[in-house]
Amino acid sequence: MPEMPEVQGLSTFLGERAVGHTIARATVSAIAALKTYDPPIHALQGQAITASTRLGKFVVLSCGDELHLVFHLAKAGWLRWYESLPTTLIKPGKSPIALRVALDDGSGFDLTEAGTKKSLAVYVVRDPQEVPGIARLGPDPLDEAFTRETFAALLDGRRMQIKGLLRDQAVIAGIGNAYSDEILHAARMSPYAIADTLDGAEIDRLFDAMRETLTEAVAEASGKPPADLKDAKRRGMQVHARRGEACPVCGDTVRSVFFADRSLEYCPTCQTGGKVLADRRLSRLLK
Ligand SMILES: [Zn+2]
Repeated sequence: MPEMPEVQGLSTFLGERAVGHTIARATVSAIAALKTYDPPIHALQGQAITASTRLGKFVVLSCGDELHLVFHLAKAGWLRWYESLPTTLIKPGKSPIALRVALDDGSGFDLTEAGTKKSLAVYVVRDPQEVPGIARLGPDPLDEAFTRETFAALLDGRRMQIKGLLRDQAVIAGIGNAYSDEILHAARMSPYAIADTLDGAEIDRLFDAMRETLTEAVAEASGKPPADLKDAKRRGMQVHARRGEACPVCGDTVRSVFFADRSLEYCPTCQTGGKVLADRRLSRLLK
């Protein structure tokens, strides 16, 4: 799933390539992906793109006339950019393409989604805050106003595991399963640590790890074309999706905890005092 750094990379890329151009045509081929009907999608036709921004894991393309094309790539969505957009017709329901946007110079992009479970979401709105997922976003951890005190206040009183808190978009915007693994590894902290029990030194460590991990990943992603962003993400990972490999910090074996629809990765030596965390699937079966 693309998270803040990749989404920022896509947004920056569109800022360089699409801003200043006019939308010649926007075609929805996966009708379920379009979550709004007023303004209609064809209202985008003839609109000049004036800005490309990121809010959490959403990309917002702002157009003249107070219109915004907003999209969220969800788990298996991606953006494919074309200097010369194919002219072939898209067969609805038979293609991974959810939305095709053609620009005035013949370039453009597709939003695609792999797999059968479709969650990619497209919105055409007059105000990005009309998108429910944007309206409930917590603060952005790379925002200048997001200080160590802001972070401490978010943890305060929350009796939940830190891994879940970091991924909760309503608490902090933009972090998902992969970067929360990376942040916790950098902070040498168990994913099961309870948020409101962290002491001052632990909050310092976690805050610094979050800022550094995300800042580095955003720097790595910026300036890369969409086709290169996924590999850049994978290369930057120390523990996420590296089960069985050696931890680059201490050499211990990276381990996973499996859940129904995902897994988390961590290093026992760096993060849990050497303790191996129970596999949630197995322990449930054994009960
Ligand atoms: Zn380690």
